[in-house]
Amino acid sequence: MAAEPVTSTAAAHLADAPDAEPHVEVPEPADANTRLFERAQRSIPGGVNSPVRAYRSVGGAPRFVQRASGPYVYDAENREYVDLVASWGPALLGHGSPVVVDAVKSAADRGLSFGAPTEGEVELAELVRARVHREGRSPIERLRLVSTGTEATMTAVRLARGATGRPLVVKFGGHYHGHSDGLLADAGSGVATLALPASAGVPPEIAALTLVLPYNDEAALRLAFERHPGRIAAVITEAAAANMGVVAPDAGFNRTIVAVAHEHGALVILDEVLTGFRVHSGGWWALDPAGPVDADLLTYGKVIGGGLPLAALGGRAEVMDLLAPLGPVYQAGTLSGNPLAVAAGLATLRAADADVYARVDAAADRVVAAVRASLTEAGVQHAVSRAGNLFSVAFGLSAPPRDYDEVRTQEAWRHPAFFHAMLAQGVSLPPSVFEAWFLTAAHDDAALSRVEEALPAAARAAAAATPPAS
Ligand SMILES: *Cc1c(COP(=O)(O)O)cnc(C)c1O
Repeated sequence: MAAEPVTSTAAAHLADAPDAEPHVEVPEPADANTRLFERAQRSIPGGVNSPVRAYRSVGGAPRFVQRASGPYVYDAENREYVDLVASWGPALLGHGSPVVVDAVKSAADRGLSFGAPTEGEVELAELVRARVHREGRSPIERLRLVSTGTEATMTAVRLARGATGRPLVVKFGGHYHGHSDGLLADAGSGVATLALPASAGVPPEIAALTLVLPYNDEAALRLAFERHPGRIAAVITEAAAANMGVVAPDAGFNRTIVAVAHEHGALVILDEVLTGFRVHSGGWWALDPAGPVDADLLTYGKVIGGGLPLAALGGRAEVMDLLAPLGPVYQAGTLSGNPLAVAAGLATLRAADADVYARVDAAADRVVAAVRASLTEAGVQHAVSRAGNLFSVAFGLSAPPRDYDEVRTQEAWRHPAFFHAMLAQGVSLPPSVFEAWFLTAAHDDAALSRVEEALPAAARAAAAATPPAS
């Protein structure tokens, strides 16, 4: 028998597999997507190389994408969809942006990977430092490139432990920081109690080095430091949480995290893998209404690679220079700073000017307004949570949730019907209610009009959905 799919209360991100025998009847014509999915499952676990793609929480066969362009993706039947996934964030400019594709092609002409430093890596580090910048100061004095967000946060945690000589890490419930062992931890029985593994294969001894706290809860944060004096190396937090649906930090909460952590000699890792260079040219760090915070380490991924595998961690020189080869904290990567990925990242960031962010923001405003109007018209109670141009829809709530417990009170069972009604009308939403919706600068009037036209019927489908029999 196959092992149970991972269930997690620590990361809703992991919850795409679980609860989810969808109760909606999804008509599945034996089309090319279905045939590919059946074939895929014979050679690939679950038919996919990252779990959320399997449509487990909405049911049916995932659409196999054969190409994408601008705001559209095309499935195995060559059906066109307005795409609101955007590769889970990287496609800020839209799919196949010519400046990015041309940069990658010309990099490829010069060779694929050298195992030696390149000028592009220097340019990218300089560009990130210039963008994450306020009044002559950047929190990023040094930047190291890695290949995935998982590596970036894993390395940041190792670095924080190396810098402080302390073992424990604090994270918040529902925040996702990739799939390294120590960050796949679930809340234990009480606040400030050491955590339990959130995935099979993570030894309890490893999970017990992580504390999982409720988000936006200053008292819990202070209590954790009181209970574990001198033992907490770092607090890691999504700059604005967006992997349990979007849950922005309360005004000033990121500042509170920094103040409390620093008071106790711990570092703060601001995880901008999702928000960095997406919500603003300087990430949430620059957009935060309470002002930029004094994070010690920042992690990037997704947009920074423009669709190729690239991620990064950065921070103050005195901390970053503890990394090998200068310092005792080891980290390395055969393909780190890969020239194709660096070319894609550079081209994406250079193209992502104020006009791009204005277009993505305006597109998000327009879709949010249409979602609200359609759900209201259909009589579906809902809350839209936002963090800049990132947003998500929580069914059945009257106010945006503030932490993972509130997130889980929503009527998630309305989402499969809503999702499939959109899909049938040629709009591809994230196949989980616990994910943000992603707009791009390529979502033009034609694409946005199609989303607006599809929403009323989807809202009626959400209204007609019934809860699973318990
Ligand atoms: C996606 C994500 C990660 C993990 O990045 P991968 O490239 O998928 O390993 C880490 N942190 C946050 C906030 C993310 O959204």
